[in-house]
Amino acid sequence: MKWEMVIGLETHVELNTKSKVFCSCRTDFGAEPNTHVCPVCMGLPGALPVFNGLVLRHAAMAGFALNCHVHHVSRFDRKNYFYPDLPKAYQISQFYRPLCENGWLTVQTSEGEKKIGITRIHIEEDAGKLLHDDKIGTMLDMNRCGVPLIEIVSEPDIRSAEEAVAYLRKVRAILTYINVSDCRMNEGSLRCDVNLSIRHPGDPLGVRSEMKNLNSFQSVERAIQAEYERQVAALEAGEEIVQETRRYDQKTGKTSTMRRKENSADYRYFPDPDLPETRLTDEDMAAILAAIPALPDARRETYVQTYGLTPYAAEQLTAERWLAEYFEEATGTAQFPVGVANLLQGEVFALLSARAAEAEKKGESAPEGRASLPISPAHLAKLSDLIAQGRVNSSTGKKILAALFIEDCDPEAYAQSHELFTVCDDATLIAAVQQAIAENPALVESYRKGKLTVEKALMGKAMAFTRGKANPERLSELLHTMLTRETDQ
Ligand code: ADP
Ligand code: MG
Ligand code: ZN
Repeated sequence: MKWEMVIGLETHVELNTKSKVFCSCRTDFGAEPNTHVCPVCMGLPGALPVFNGLVLRHAAMAGFALNCHVHHVSRFDRKNYFYPDLPKAYQISQFYRPLCENGWLTVQTSEGEKKIGITRIHIEEDAGKLLHDDKIGTMLDMNRCGVPLIEIVSEPDIRSAEEAVAYLRKVRAILTYINVSDCRMNEGSLRCDVNLSIRHPGDPLGVRSEMKNLNSFQSVERAIQAEYERQVAALEAGEEIVQETRRYDQKTGKTSTMRRKENSADYRYFPDPDLPETRLTDEDMAAILAAIPALPDARRETYVQTYGLTPYAAEQLTAERWLAEYFEEATGTAQFPVGVANLLQGEVFALLSARAAEAEKKGESAPEGRASLPISPAHLAKLSDLIAQGRVNSSTGKKILAALFIEDCDPEAYAQSHELFTVCDDATLIAAVQQAIAENPALVESYRKGKLTVEKALMGKAMAFTRGKANPERLSELLHTMLTRETDQ
């Protein structure tokens, strides 16, 4: 009987406020170490925290966008533990009365739509960063101490690595739509802990292990696979799984014990006496709700209804807000909106990932977001229409697209000046076919002997004589007619 995996994710997201959660230090990523610090975030004795109201607004907005119940009142608790990157020896978090509870989101997977529960979302402060150096030793950068975080805790509803990644992508999509975080995994503004257990379907939940601080979709996927295999092997060998925190090593692709799991009792949570309760009035909540833009699910539904896209395709186009807005702007001017969807998901995505891969090879960082697509939506729409109307064929379309990537311009003018419009007039096409037949007697001969597949090769030759610009359907029709006529003779 197959083992089922059961996964719950704890996702930490840094909020993009300018200042920290309990002091006025700046939150900029990548600043010179220990330049954005003060007595409060360094945890000096006697320093008192003052709550940043924008954090509450951002966290509540995240709660609403993730379908949570957002509480009028929430409270801060101290989570006590010692670690070198936590100078106060406690982290201010929310334990007894979190801001948000009982939410959910949906993901589109290869098996259809799935709803995943969100247990709670609470506000907390980030810890500092330890930098390990072989010669100097370990150094501490406290710039990150006190950067505002929300922690989103999912129900153990996730059943595969694919669903886990789809869940994280959806969290990222929603939070970037509402602009409360940049959700950059490579900069640590979105990180995730994976809790995983296995069981036979229908059994109660098994004992879980937790893998901390995974910071790319790929390592989430691989850590899940490795840990699932380890647990299956252990249980089948008659061993027991113990509840513990494990580390996933990217190099070996294996997980190993970090520490036996602490329970919440170990943290000796108690209400922070330095901070008052957070309060949101009905008017505050109404204002926050009103500021939420159309979210990915709503846009996806519109795309499915309006353009007949599949839910999966529409989910891809709504994965990032800039992309959805780009798509909507382009379809606004296109005559054939479905063509825009196809072009984006086909050639454009391919070009974007090729560019990203190239940049990575060179150790550079490729432009992100809207900047990664240096073509105006109107130009892309026009190119898509040219292809849909058959005025340029798909391979010429690709060439034009690549040219626009390098220097954006009107695709119609470009096609004109580079003589790239599809050749449709029969005289030219017939001449090309005749030339292909005349210059390739061997191919024609084997066609006559019944090897019908050579028609494709002859088609390629004829297309080449038009310098790739023929209307492929018409050319193929003419070639076929001529070949069969000659064969019949
Ligand atoms: P803690 O805060 O101590 O890590 P929680 O009970 O809050 O523990 O759970 C943390 C995460 O672990 C949640 O996302 C939850 O869904 C998940 N989880 C709990 N039990 C299991 C289990 N048996 N298997 C897989 N995931 C689990
Ligand atoms: Mg945990
Ligand atoms: Zn500070």
